[in-house]
Amino acid sequence: MRLLVVEDDVQNRRFLEKTLTESGYEVSLAPTAAAAERVFRSAVNLSAVILDLGLPDEDGLSLITRLKQQGLRAPVLILSARRSVDDRVRGLETGGDDYLVKPFAAPELLARLRNLIRRNSPPVDNVTVLQVLDLRLDLLRREATRGDEKLQLTTHEFSLLEFLCRNAGRIVSRSMILDQVWGMRIEPDTNVVDVHIYRLRGKVETRGSEPLIRTIRGVGYVLRDK
Ligand code: CA
Repeated sequence: MRLLVVEDDVQNRRFLEKTLTESGYEVSLAPTAAAAERVFRSAVNLSAVILDLGLPDEDGLSLITRLKQQGLRAPVLILSARRSVDDRVRGLETGGDDYLVKPFAAPELLARLRNLIRRNSPPVDNVTVLQVLDLRLDLLRREATRGDEKLQLTTHEFSLLEFLCRNAGRIVSRSMILDQVWGMRIEPDTNVVDVHIYRLRGKVETRGSEPLIRTIRGVGYVLRDK
């Protein structure tokens, strides 16, 4: 999942990049409104935008308005030192989807971000079948097949595979999986994800077939899409 971080302060930018990267996000950084617009126009698929309001070349609020007019669909999390009720209301009314006052704690930023992304992800997108290589998921019947072979999956295994398929080719972290598949907000000291990935591999990657689920050490997993 790719995030656009618009922040002119070098230290804040580094902090955000580190925090978000460690949580498994891919991050595009922009120190100015003009740079943010370039990233947006480069047509990368953004999952969310994190936006500082005080930018050197333009006010963050007018940047959001413009990007939304140009078709920005990703939710916008405003980070700002402007803490008055008026400022926050204006931010939310201008197109911010959430507002976090600086200074903030990393866990709160991550929790709000996950909520925003989840609220924004299309739950009923009329997609009833997901296909990645020779893997096929029928979401209505909750049936999975690889090639001609039907896979016997538990409810959680199916949900996990669905999440991986929806993000095929993109790295998803354990905390994203816990959040999206199990609905847990904070990553507890659990190996539930690893155990389920292990079992899922045993069912999906049958003998003779090519491995589909890759482990990215220290980060998470990716379902191969080519
Ligand atoms: Ca600033």
